[in-house]
Amino acid sequence: KAFEQMTGARHCLATASGTAALTTALGALDLGPGDEVILPPYTFIATWNVIVLNFALPVFVDVDPETFQIDPARVEQSITPQTRALLPVHIGGSPPDLDTLLAIGARRGVPVIEDACQAHLAEWRGRAVGTWGLAGCFSFQASKNLNCGEGGAVLTGDPDFANRCYNFHTQGRGRPVSGPQPSRASNLRLSEFQGRLLRAQMARVLDQTRRRTENATYLTALLGQIPGITPARLYEGVTRSAYHLYMFRYDKEHFAGLPRSRFLEALGQAGVPASGGYGPMHRDPYVTGITRDRHFLRIYGERHLQEWQERALTCPRNDRLCEDAVWFTQNM
Ligand SMILES: *Cc1c(COP(=O)(O)O)cnc(C)c1O
Repeated sequence: KAFEQMTGARHCLATASGTAALTTALGALDLGPGDEVILPPYTFIATWNVIVLNFALPVFVDVDPETFQIDPARVEQSITPQTRALLPVHIGGSPPDLDTLLAIGARRGVPVIEDACQAHLAEWRGRAVGTWGLAGCFSFQASKNLNCGEGGAVLTGDPDFANRCYNFHTQGRGRPVSGPQPSRASNLRLSEFQGRLLRAQMARVLDQTRRRTENATYLTALLGQIPGITPARLYEGVTRSAYHLYMFRYDKEHFAGLPRSRFLEALGQAGVPASGGYGPMHRDPYVTGITRDRHFLRIYGERHLQEWQERALTCPRNDRLCEDAVWFTQNM
């Protein structure tokens, strides 16, 4: 109820983690083998895991390097009759181009599930993220802006979908739903103890978010003046970023070829700990390993998985972004 009020969502369901929130939303969609889900490669591995755990096929859409978000212009061409969901991520706590993504979803009849695990209190056109798609999923894990150690939530404006999520997260029973009841579910509930911790943190998160915005605006104004340093651009519809991460690109050509690793070291020595962020997920052996997974081979066949891999490996913008990115993490 408190997170509903904070976000203006119609329904909020507390879950054991952000991963559990995503699993619940995809479970409520009855995602399964043979289905495809569209996601960006520039994200935390959980976004991938929740798809493959259902033996559905993740389909990468390359990033827009200026914003670090999924490239909205490349989404539609990746939709097939098997596409069951669009799973855009609010990476760093900044919204992707929701206008375009929601329009594509509506036109093609594919629901949008927002991975808002980094985006507490972020807003698109004055309304909280997580309330735009069919569902929005949040994490309250210890590294997040709002946390209780481990926890999560699903927001939705659809009462029937809310009931499906409720049932999925508590052994498949409890609330009436329209149409056939799925026969798969789990226990993904948040404990009351963690809920209590979360309530205490909620009293502080709005102030902290405002301060983050002030600091980020100040940083962007200064860093943007340095040739070779390019802060992540916000889309025009972003009325608030959660700034879970402060992200920018480092172009070594402007620094006499000094590699990013040396730049990060120098920043650390100057008392400014920074991270190079995510590696290229689309090349990670953990990820490409689905082409040798016996279950995936049985469901999709070797040829289809080889084609999948060739496409997955073709994310040149993400390759470059993973080489150039620099993050200040939320605890800074
Ligand atoms: C943290 C995170 C998750 C998973 O949340 P957990 O609470 O750690 O399970 C999912 N997606 C993104 C983008 C995240 O940052």
